[in-house]
Amino acid sequence: MTSSSPTAPERSSAVPDKIILILGGTKEAAEIAARLSIRPGLGVITALAGRTKEPAPLSGEVRTGGFGGADGLAAYLTEHRIGLLIDATHPFAATMSANARLAASSTGTRLIRLERPPWQAEADDLWTTVRTLEDAARALPAHARVLLALGSQHIAIFETRPDCHFVVRMVDAPTQRLPLVSHDLILSKPSADPAAEAELLRQHAITHIVCRNSGGSGAYAKIIAARQMHIPVVMVGKQGMASGDSVDSVEAVIALT
Ligand code: NAP
Repeated sequence: MTSSSPTAPERSSAVPDKIILILGGTKEAAEIAARLSIRPGLGVITALAGRTKEPAPLSGEVRTGGFGGADGLAAYLTEHRIGLLIDATHPFAATMSANARLAASSTGTRLIRLERPPWQAEADDLWTTVRTLEDAARALPAHARVLLALGSQHIAIFETRPDCHFVVRMVDAPTQRLPLVSHDLILSKPSADPAAEAELLRQHAITHIVCRNSGGSGAYAKIIAARQMHIPVVMVGKQGMASGDSVDSVEAVIALT
């Protein structure tokens, strides 16, 4: 793995036949980078927003930080002779995905979007599906004890519910005090083990979970735990557009590359 500034990714000495830029920040993006970077003749660069202090190691080159909107990304694609753009960002990273579409179109760069299928409610799930996090805050009953599995930038929305107690789980410590009247902060990644998630829900006497329907396996264990414990989930659905270039698995991305 190499790491570098936004404008100057490090390159290995061999000149690749084709350079691929992966818009990353997800487990799937890391898997794509690992699988493509061993292909002869391919140069692989993964772009990260830089939100996570210690991102997991990545194969190939890494550049960190925004591009400066769709125009900045378009300039990067041209300057670095990117032959294929793979958008493997999180399903709720809507701005980056929109910028990828604009930049790919304005530069004539081929774009593949990996779009995880959202989770589907099962028979025992107690979901209330809402459109926005604001709607999620309104949907909580009075005095609920809520697991908020959201990034720090989304927590202020729940200021409107001083009657509720929030257990906020995030990977990195927030840079500012959380604006919630009553809360506990847990600094960790979600566990992949439903039993561990169930234990956390029990320990904090959680009555409701608020999360976004991100799909994938990484954050699904809490949904299984909630199902087993009959805990209601306020699920924020993904808005927006599936685009024509979308595929739904890492395998499909690799096959098209
Ligand atoms: P966003 O709102 O769509 O993007 C905001 C801005 O951040 C973009 O306009 C871009 O800045 C920069 N950016 C985003 N992703 C980038 C990337 N992969 N490489 C370089 N710049 C990037 O995105 P977000 O929701 O803040 O998510 C940021 C990153 O975290 C994404 O890479 C995403 O995959 C990852 N992530 C997000 C979530 C989530 O819940 N949203 C969860 C897990 C991981 P410029 O306009 O300056 O280029």
